[in-house]
Amino acid sequence: MEMLPAGETRIWTTLDFNQDGKQHDWLRLPFSTDLSAYGVIPIPITCIKNGAGPTALLIAGNHGDEYEGQVALSKLARQVEPRDARGRILILPALNYPAVVAGRRLSPLDEGNLNRLFPGEANGTPTQMIAHYVSSVLLSMADIVIDLHSGGSSLYYLPCCLIRSGKTGAETARLIELMQVFGAPIGSVSDGTGGGGATTLSAIAQAFGVVALTTELGGGGGFSSTGEAIASQGIYRVLKHIGVLPNAETKSPPPVRLMQVAGRGAYTYAPIHGIFEPAVELGDSVEAGQSGGFLFPVEGLPRQPEEIRFAQSGLVACRRAPALAAPGDCLFKLVTDVGAN
Ligand code: ZN
Repeated sequence: MEMLPAGETRIWTTLDFNQDGKQHDWLRLPFSTDLSAYGVIPIPITCIKNGAGPTALLIAGNHGDEYEGQVALSKLARQVEPRDARGRILILPALNYPAVVAGRRLSPLDEGNLNRLFPGEANGTPTQMIAHYVSSVLLSMADIVIDLHSGGSSLYYLPCCLIRSGKTGAETARLIELMQVFGAPIGSVSDGTGGGGATTLSAIAQAFGVVALTTELGGGGGFSSTGEAIASQGIYRVLKHIGVLPNAETKSPPPVRLMQVAGRGAYTYAPIHGIFEPAVELGDSVEAGQSGGFLFPVEGLPRQPEEIRFAQSGLVACRRAPALAAPGDCLFKLVTDVGAN
């Protein structure tokens, strides 16, 4: 167990995390404004507890514009009754509530990207304070955390479950087993160097010794029923597997294709401003050097369209959603089969 983040949280709740039963409340984050001098930011939370057992922490709305997990957890909080459970389920369907209300990845209050701010600050901006509460209070109660993401407004994603490889082979094997129980079509094993590095919820959970599963379930700022069903079924299967919902009715998981992101060459970036015409779609297999499409300069005829080429071979797991792209925007992310290279 590493050092917990410094400082006492200012976020409070009327929930008693040790009380059996089902309780709904808010995490109340003090935020004083012109229009609400003594106001709090109300972050919804449900605690379902029945006696002794593991604690599962279920999170969506870490990024506000990723919706499948928000709906899956909203349903779960209504469906599960304390008599179904052994142990405790903590459900937060809208963790960065201001970002969820705004339909944005970042919080409009501080432009905070919650999943880049862990372990957070007790007396920081609202988004830093949420990260700190998760790190210092929620993770210290949890045996497992499932953090449900999707591609958000700027990316489309193939549905997948993601883990960071463990510190030991046994830890990695345990995570892969849980990913296979979750049953998203693709299971992505990360070495922790991509995306948010050490500042994500899954990274801080791993540092604190809490098992962490993450998902990507759709994207483009829309809602995928397929992605939501994968999240719902996956959560029930994992909760049953760890004994928190021992009698849940679940189907056996479909086969999971284990894949990885093989270095920086897996990402393709826009070199110029332009309108993106992709030549491949999610789920396509591509070869190194193959065309991924064109960027058409908005200046028109005097400038040539820029052809995009892949630096390596792989499966298209993710592509940019908005047509307009600027230099540095990620257009594609590729994954490759584990053990393939
Ligand atoms: Zn996200």
